[in-house]
Amino acid sequence: MTSYAYMGKVLWVDLSGGRIRAEKVDPAIFRKLLSGMGLAAWYLYRRIPAGADPLGPENILGFVSGLLTGTGSLFTGRWMVVGKSPLTGTWGDANCGGNFAPAIKQCGYDAIFFTGVSHRPVYLYADGGKAEIRDASHLWGRDTIETEHWLIRHHKGKKRPRVACIGPAGEKLSLIAGISNDRGRLAARSGLGAVMGSKKLKAVVLAGSRRVKAARPGIMKQLSSKCNQDTRWQPPFVSSDMMARLGSLMRALPAQPMTDGLLYKIMLRKWGTVSMNQASIEMGDAPVRNWDGCNLDFPAELSGAIGADAITRPVKAKYFCYSCPLGCGGMMPSVIDPQREIHRPEYETTMALGPLLMNNDAASIFYLNDLLNRAGMDTISAGGAVAMAMECFQNGLLTKSQTDGLELTWGNRQAIVALVEKMIRREGVGDLFADGASKAAARIGSGAPEYAICAGGQSLGMHDSRFDPGFAIHYALEPSPGKHTVGSQLYYEMFGLWHALETLPFPGLVYFKGSKYKANKVKAVMAAACSCYMNVLNGAGACLFGAFLGIERLPVFKWLNAATGWQLENERYMDIGRRVQSLRQLFNVRQGIAPAKIRISRRALGDPPQRQGANKGRRVPLQALRRLYWKEMGWDPDTGIPTASTCKRLGIEP
Ligand code: SF4
Repeated sequence: MTSYAYMGKVLWVDLSGGRIRAEKVDPAIFRKLLSGMGLAAWYLYRRIPAGADPLGPENILGFVSGLLTGTGSLFTGRWMVVGKSPLTGTWGDANCGGNFAPAIKQCGYDAIFFTGVSHRPVYLYADGGKAEIRDASHLWGRDTIETEHWLIRHHKGKKRPRVACIGPAGEKLSLIAGISNDRGRLAARSGLGAVMGSKKLKAVVLAGSRRVKAARPGIMKQLSSKCNQDTRWQPPFVSSDMMARLGSLMRALPAQPMTDGLLYKIMLRKWGTVSMNQASIEMGDAPVRNWDGCNLDFPAELSGAIGADAITRPVKAKYFCYSCPLGCGGMMPSVIDPQREIHRPEYETTMALGPLLMNNDAASIFYLNDLLNRAGMDTISAGGAVAMAMECFQNGLLTKSQTDGLELTWGNRQAIVALVEKMIRREGVGDLFADGASKAAARIGSGAPEYAICAGGQSLGMHDSRFDPGFAIHYALEPSPGKHTVGSQLYYEMFGLWHALETLPFPGLVYFKGSKYKANKVKAVMAAACSCYMNVLNGAGACLFGAFLGIERLPVFKWLNAATGWQLENERYMDIGRRVQSLRQLFNVRQGIAPAKIRISRRALGDPPQRQGANKGRRVPLQALRRLYWKEMGWDPDTGIPTASTCKRLGIEP
C-alpha cells in the first residue's frame, strides 16, 4: 500500500549492543498522533521505563521529522529531538529548523531513536541504503561547527550530508546543552544535548535521497502558492527606530489591539526575530535584570545598541530553512573564525545575554552567541544562569573569592564572557553554573533559589509572563516546562484559530489590558487551544513563525489532508493535539512527576508585583488559571492527571 506524507518506518539504534534495526509503523498511529511530537510520544511513553535515569542507557533519544516535511508544503522543515529531560526530569523536547528534518525522511524514516550507551564516541551514518555506527573518537572535543564541517567533507558524495551534533557542552554533560545542525542552529531546550553526550553519540549524519509522496500534489501546490503570495507581500516603510516608539506607544495605551501575525511577518522578514528587541523591552515583554528590573532600567538610549539594525548590520545574507519562503535567519561572519559564517543571534539570545544581564554591548552578544552555538549550549539557559549568578553576587551570596575573581556586576561584559567561557569548560565557578540556574541555586542554597527564574528547573524564555499571562500558563503547565514556544494571549491572536474552529472564541479587535489578568474559562479555552495546536504543528514539522501568519494563511489542516489523503475535519486535528498533550502528561506521571508540584518562579507571576515600569502592579492568577486549564484539557483540576474518561475518549491507555 502506498503511504503518503510519512515513510512508515522508524530506525532503532542500540548503542550498547551496536545493533541497528528498522521497525515498521502501523499507519493508524500517524492518523491518531501525526508524526513529530506525536510519534515520539507514542514510543517514549511506552518504551522509557518509569524512573529511568535521563543520562543512563534506558533513556531514548529521538530525532523526529514532521508529517508535512517534504510534501510540498511551506514552513515545514522543523525537526524535533525528544527524550526524558535531565534538566527537568520531565518529558523533554527541542525543535530546530535548517535542513535536517527532510534528511531524516530522505533516508526512509520518520524518526531515528537511540537507546543504550556506547563505550566510545560514535556517530551514526545513514543514507537510505545503509545505516552504520562509526567511530567518532577523533571528533570528541571538537566544537559543533568543526564537527559538522569535518563530517560533510568526509562524506562528500552525490548527496550533501546533513549533520546534527553536539559540542563540548553536550560531551561534558551540561544539563543545558543542545544539539546543533546547519552551522550552529540549536535544538536548545530541555538539556537533550547532555543525553546525546551521555550516550557518547557525537553526531548523526544523513545522506539519503528518497522522496516523500503527497496524496494530492495538485492541491498541495495550490495551497502552497497562496501561502507563498501571502508571505511575500512586504511594505517598504518600516525602520528600526520605529520599533522602540511602537513599544512605548503600546505600553501607554490602556487598551490593546488584537495582533495580526501579518504585521509580525513584515518585521520578521526584514530583521528576523530581533525585530522585536526594542519594542519588547519597552512594552514589558522582555525581562530586564533577571526579571527584577523593568523598561525604565533599560531605556531606548541603551537598547538602541542592541536594536534590530545594530544586530542586523553585520549580516551578509538571509537564511532560509528548508521549504521556507520567508527566511527570518541571517548569516554573518563568525567572530571567532571570520572565514566561516554563523547565524545572527535571535531575539531570545539577544535578550538573555542583553537586558537580562543589563548588557547592551552588541559585540559581546555576537561573540557569546558564536561561542555558545559552537559549544552547543542553550543561550536562554546560559543567560538565565549568569543572571542568577549576578543577583547572588549583588546580594552577597557569592563573593569574588567564590567566582574565581570575577566581578559579577550587572552589565560587566568582560565578566559575563569569562563566566560563560568557564561554564562551557566546566572550569572553576563555571562548573557551578554549567547545569543552569536552578541546579546552581540549589547548590548555593540560602536565598539563591529566589533568583533562579525557572519553571520545573528550566530557565524561562524571554517573554515576561507579567506582560502576557498566557506565557505563565505554558511555562508552568506544559509537560515540558519553561518553554516560550507553545502559547500565550499573543500567540492565540496570531494563530487565528477561530477562523477554522467555530467553537473557539474571538479575542476582540481591541480589549482592555486588565482583562488579560482575569482567570476565566475563555483564558483556559485559548490556552488549551494553543497547547493542542502546537502539538499539531510539531507533528507536522511546521514553524511557529509560519503559524503566526494565521490558520488562513498557513493552511496546516488543509495541507495535512491533501498530503495524507485523509479527510479529517479541523476539530479532529485538535483532538490529535489533545491526545499528544495527554500522552506527554501521562509520560510525566509515569516518571513520578506530580504536575501540581511543578513550580514556577514567584517573580515571573508578579509576586511581589513590580513597583514601576510597564508591568507595574501586575499579578498572574496562576493557581486559578491552572485549575481552569487542566479542566479544559480534560485533566483532573486538582492533580493535572488526564482523567479516565478523557483517556477513553482519546483512545489512550493511562
Ligand atoms: S520563518 Fe525562520 S525559523 Fe521559520 S522556517 Fe523560515 S527561516 Fe526557519
